[in-house]
Amino acid sequence: MILDCVFCKIVGGELPCYSVYNDMFAIAFLDIAPITKGHTLVLPRVHVKSLSELKKDEAAGLIFAVQRVSSGIMESVYPEGLNIFINQGEVAGQVVPHLHVHVVPRTTGDGLKFVTPRFEMSESDFKKLAKKITKAINV
Ligand code: AMP
Ligand code: ZN
Repeated sequence: MILDCVFCKIVGGELPCYSVYNDMFAIAFLDIAPITKGHTLVLPRVHVKSLSELKKDEAAGLIFAVQRVSSGIMESVYPEGLNIFINQGEVAGQVVPHLHVHVVPRTTGDGLKFVTPRFEMSESDFKKLAKKITKAINV
């Protein structure tokens, strides 16, 4: 628990939230400034900033909670789909430094755009990069 973390305070019951789910590993509540109706945040009870800091059971617990919340939103809010994502690090848009997964309901014509321009890479650059990342994963 980090004393000045707003999400730790919600986990600890010191601050209110519009709760939709909680279990021993994770909690979920409605985002206070929703991108679309039903936008929900799912977070581990433990305070970490990034996904890789979670232990295996905590990570599995978080993903399980994301599954439950996603299904619940599909069956109650009736979107056509969902964007499920994490903003990790300030550069990626992380404002609250307590890891959280955004579950955002999507409907045709909702006006959201997650599409950005892509760049091209050569086959050898792809091969080198895949090797480099694989090596780092397996150390
Ligand atoms: P991020 O930019 O990924 O760190 O997202 C932080 C999210 O937390 C934003 O979508 C905020 O609207 C949301 N948020 C911040 N404070 C609260 C709060 N007290 N209750 C619910 N959602 C919150
Ligand atoms: Zn926290």
